[in-house]
Amino acid sequence: MAVTDDQDIARLLNLLRSLPDDERRIGLLKRIAAEGGTLEPKWAPAEASGYYYWPAVDRDLRQLCDSDLAYLADRDYLDRRYFDRLTRCPACRSANLNIREVCVSCGSANLFAQPLLHHYRCGYVGAIATFAQDGEARVCPKCDGTLRHLGTDHEVVGDQFGCRQCFASFEEPKVEAVCMGCGARTDADKLAHDDIVAYAMTNLGHAAVRGGRLFDRDDEQMTEPDLPVYRRQVALSLLRDEVRRQTRYRIPFSALMFRTGGPATESTVIRQLREKLRDVDHIGRYADGIVIVLLPATPEAGGKVVLDRILGHLGNVGGTTMSFLDIDRVDAILADAAQRL
Ligand SMILES: [Zn+2]
Ligand SMILES: [Zn+2]
Ligand SMILES: [Zn+2]
Repeated sequence: MAVTDDQDIARLLNLLRSLPDDERRIGLLKRIAAEGGTLEPKWAPAEASGYYYWPAVDRDLRQLCDSDLAYLADRDYLDRRYFDRLTRCPACRSANLNIREVCVSCGSANLFAQPLLHHYRCGYVGAIATFAQDGEARVCPKCDGTLRHLGTDHEVVGDQFGCRQCFASFEEPKVEAVCMGCGARTDADKLAHDDIVAYAMTNLGHAAVRGGRLFDRDDEQMTEPDLPVYRRQVALSLLRDEVRRQTRYRIPFSALMFRTGGPATESTVIRQLREKLRDVDHIGRYADGIVIVLLPATPEAGGKVVLDRILGHLGNVGGTTMSFLDIDRVDAILADAAQRL
């Protein structure tokens, strides 16, 4: 794995700027492949966005490259992987926020906290300052009893907060953010959030790098190069269609999930699988090493018969496994896919 420094990457990306779209995108894929196949965002506190993928790159070129990343992910050359959640100001989208506890009545951050004590014998609960000091011990203001040992005659039940501005006291301060960009003050539960992603090369991405081009010709957009497998986005939309038909017209379908084993055996196994299916059945990519088999107009019982027949035929070739997908799993798959877009 070649690790190049930020300046070198910036120079390389600058060379891509003048190329036609497809060549620039292939150039980006090659860059990511050379860096080990994944691209993680880096925090950028000085930027309004809060993060970027390409440090040291001019902002306009960075935007172009970011839209290329989205383009490549939408077409399955890259996989979006959850990286982290970024909190933003809902007014100006800045990620530069000062988050702190404030007074519930006047909003000042000028607070102090003191432990709340609970005297077991009489049940009194009060701030530590209300218990008079007596050498090492404290005296309960309610019953005049002495508190000597934490855990034996009294306990700390939390903190009490006091405001130095308005002298209010309370047990739960408010949590609030001040935006360092625009100054807006926002309650913590009303802040905006962005899920940010890392990008990882898929097998399709690696194939594109090897071939030196994207598989974007009309006849290539649906299936993977050299395999009778629908590309991920196509497979997910076929699955979505089946769910819709089942909900709207009560036409049942079945879905199987198939782990294809290592890359060495995958193409053989998939070809054998294809032979065992009807023409109307679909094989589609779910992830590297995993495909979904769609059996339209096939109720659950029929789907399980197909599953048994295929398992009987393929046996356990190179670590392959296959399982029936119930509707909850299908819903979860589609929800996850929708979230990643
Ligand atoms: Zn206050
Ligand atoms: Zn007491
Ligand atoms: Zn703001």
